[in-house]
Amino acid sequence: MSRAILWFRMDQRLSDNAALTAACAVHEEVLPVLVIDPQQTGAGPFGFARLGAFRAQFWREGIADLDAQLRAKGNALVVRNGDPVEMLHQIASVWNAEAVYAHRSCTWEEQKQEARVAQRLQLHLFAPDDLLHEDDLPFTIDLLPHVFTAFRNKVEKTVDVRTPLVEPAHITPPVGWLEQATLDHGIDHAPPAHDPREALHFVGGRSAASARIAHYFGTQRHLSCYKQTRNGLLGADYSSKLSPWLATGAISAREVYANVKRYEGTYGANESTYWLIFELLWRDFFRLTAAKHGRKLFLRKGIAGRPFNGTTDVDRFGAWCLGRTGQPFIDANMRELAATGWMSNRGRQNVASYLVHDLGLDWRMGASWFERLLLDYDPHSNWGNWQYVAGVGNDPREGRRFDPVRQAGMYDADGAFVRLWS
Ligand code: FAD
Repeated sequence: MSRAILWFRMDQRLSDNAALTAACAVHEEVLPVLVIDPQQTGAGPFGFARLGAFRAQFWREGIADLDAQLRAKGNALVVRNGDPVEMLHQIASVWNAEAVYAHRSCTWEEQKQEARVAQRLQLHLFAPDDLLHEDDLPFTIDLLPHVFTAFRNKVEKTVDVRTPLVEPAHITPPVGWLEQATLDHGIDHAPPAHDPREALHFVGGRSAASARIAHYFGTQRHLSCYKQTRNGLLGADYSSKLSPWLATGAISAREVYANVKRYEGTYGANESTYWLIFELLWRDFFRLTAAKHGRKLFLRKGIAGRPFNGTTDVDRFGAWCLGRTGQPFIDANMRELAATGWMSNRGRQNVASYLVHDLGLDWRMGASWFERLLLDYDPHSNWGNWQYVAGVGNDPREGRRFDPVRQAGMYDADGAFVRLWS
């Protein structure tokens, strides 16, 4: 019997999963495996753990949902906690698997891991989870434009988004696999308490992602006014809130795109329906930027290699984290993050600017705190956006500072958001 491991990474879904489709086409039996790497969850460069309670809970739910999806196809997920290279090697040896199938990562730590896996096992990698397939881009990664608008102009009119792949009808396991499959993820965070003020109650996994899509793209037609509402701060529907599921891969960007097109077919296209796709192109841009610049995404001088003079003052940083800077708009956003794991895009732009330009702190401290807290933490979008705000990334302008008083006047004119989180 020919057997392969399907290595789930940030792609917790069975549909539009090129690695799974290929594994099922070539091999008679497939072993679905997900490995939680303690290096990705343990202490980060500033001393606190990289994985916080909100994302841990979202992962747990997502993993359970993925296992349920696999069981409906006759298979089951094995989850291990440890070095992915060792874990995959162990499983391959015990189960006599010939090859490993996975999606390629855009970030350098994960790429080093891939290289180590490839030294010991036959590894087949597939294009990462971008809206635009890498083979369709009109440039090689080293020629990716530095500025978003130049990127968009090159791809928007020339590259078609591919149709999502259909999930396999059955995923056959080896005899004995189901009996020993365990979800031993070793994530020991207690489930976080729910704050009644939360914008949306996020639940991990494909089922919840599909429910959110059905709601946001449904009869209430939220998408038709997305461009007008997307800078909102209050409530569930000012933006799609799909980012946590995109970050874990419970849904792919191409699947979101297909839903936008279906919506346009039913309710009509307008500037707002286009704008959601425009934002997904930003996501692609940061993913490609990460792939192009490797380790520089995480360095103080950024991908621009520009000197950056932030300090690591722990008192100022602590006040920012806890929402106690004394600036009401900043504090309200930081309290929402601490209480729920969520913050709007408008909030993120402001608190990042405040940390860099008003508190004079090292931008990487802010990015690390976001990594720990954000439900939708995604390395490309997080570090890419932080670099952008700090003036060491893709922004053609340096030192872009938001005035929080002016911003609060524009986006929280009646003070309802600040009152909610005071
Ligand atoms: P919508 O407004 O509904 O947009 C739809 C999708 O487009 C999003 O889900 C996301 O995938 C993509 N998108 C939208 N804006 C951006 C953007 N600026 N950059 C990249 N993709 C975008 N997004 C993350 O997914 N993970 C992060 O870790 C993250 N960290 C950020 C850190 C900072 C400092 C800033 C300023 C932004 C960050 N963002 C991050 C981008 C953005 O804030 C979120 O994607 C967005 O708020 C998610 O909400 P939504 O799904 O309702 O977005």
